[in-house]
Amino acid sequence: MAIWIEFRCELRSEGIEDQSKRCLSDDNIGPMEMAGDTQKSVNETISMLGEIAKKEGWVRTRDGWVCPNCMKRGANHD
Ligand SMILES: [Zn+2]
Repeated sequence: MAIWIEFRCELRSEGIEDQSKRCLSDDNIGPMEMAGDTQKSVNETISMLGEIAKKEGWVRTRDGWVCPNCMKRGANHD
């Protein structure tokens, strides 16, 4: 068995009908990876995905991870 981990954008569906800046989670293209089924493997995978997410422009907010597109259109959010 394995555990599928995918980052989902916290601001998904809170937005604006701007199709040029669709939330990445609407297209299921957040950082994702298959982890093993141990707590250790899950932790390691989440750390690794966090690094990838930052490189791709995701930002960890108080509420959770937000994709780069929502960060752009949500500049005045919060
Ligand atoms: Zn988003």
